[in-house]
Amino acid sequence: MKIAVLPGDGIGPEIVAQAVKVLNALNLDIEMTEAPIGGAGYEAACDPLPAATLQLAKDADAVLLGAVGDWKYDQLERHLRPERGLLRIRKELNLFANLRPALLYPELAGASTLKPEVVSGLDIMIVRELTGDIYFGQPRGISTLPNGEREGVNTMRYCESEIRRIGRVAFDIAMKRRQDGQKAKVCSVDKANVLEATELWRQVMIELSAEYPEVELSHMYVDNAAMQLIRAPKQFDVMVTGNIFGDILSDEASMLTGSIGMLPSASLDENNKGMYEPSHGSAPDIAGKDIANPLATILSAAMMLRYTFNDEANALKIENAVKKALAQGYRTADILTEGCKQVGCNAMGDAVVAALN
Ligand code: NAD
Repeated sequence: MKIAVLPGDGIGPEIVAQAVKVLNALNLDIEMTEAPIGGAGYEAACDPLPAATLQLAKDADAVLLGAVGDWKYDQLERHLRPERGLLRIRKELNLFANLRPALLYPELAGASTLKPEVVSGLDIMIVRELTGDIYFGQPRGISTLPNGEREGVNTMRYCESEIRRIGRVAFDIAMKRRQDGQKAKVCSVDKANVLEATELWRQVMIELSAEYPEVELSHMYVDNAAMQLIRAPKQFDVMVTGNIFGDILSDEASMLTGSIGMLPSASLDENNKGMYEPSHGSAPDIAGKDIANPLATILSAAMMLRYTFNDEANALKIENAVKKALAQGYRTADILTEGCKQVGCNAMGDAVVAALN
């Protein structure tokens, strides 16, 4: 197994080091090679995605990424900015499926802005299509009408094959998640009552579901889904949706858990090659202070074992070790509550490694 390790900027190197430590502690047959991206790529090669980094990522089975960005690069020309490196690597690797779990450990229920009984034990997976929809559809642009008024246009479009491939990801994940005898559930989110592109989305999901009799498919309009996520989020298991709806709903769902330092993510291509990264940014305000929460990155490494390497046992081992470290009371500053033991980034990594056994 070859992993390209791209720590990036800000807290990236600190949090990635903890995930690497946890992976090493599992004694797996993996080869990890580091390369710069983002601001670090710009410093090393005047390019936020240096050619050598892209080649390494292409040759690897999976990519583990920290985060990119720092305010000191905000004045650079747009194509040299750290975030460009991230967008380019996603496109180059054709990562069309974005997986964002929103999982709330009971120990952290107090961190959410919602009532503990509404969110405690929450475990949702949002599957968002990442390379199509209104963000990429043509025609687009701002033009001037004959009467002199300006008009802005974007086009929502999806073709069948794009819908089918993201649907497949969602159904497969639903089956992987439910190995406890419970029925796997997929909720497909659309606006089929108003938008033809999503009317097709719904039709294709229904056709596809015939291949997955073990999975219960339901449909929900996006406005209702936004409301239900706040009202009764535990009704959802896997949610699958297009690019723009997924953009909004996944951010909403992440806030149910209240703690940005806990949320991993995966972006997959057609062969389950993936890039794994925390959902948060590079947090330059706390970089180099050994106070960042490394758990989102460690949990991203668990997702890598599950989705790219098909190693459910070791993925669970990491997730259980994180749970154990939390149950033992270890907390970084961002999730600290009274009576718990405050630790730094490195010590939290050590606590997870110790809890592996
Ligand atoms: P951010 O996510 O970096 O930080 C937001 C707040 O959350 C900050 O107060 C930060 O200290 C805190 N925080 C974030 N991660 C944390 C962690 N693991 N532990 C403890 N606290 C944590 O977002 P921002 O401040 O808006 O952006 C900072 C930089 O990150 C910008 O340059 C932005 O472009 C970049 N960014 C990168 C990514 C990415 O690499 N995927 C995503 C978002 C933002």
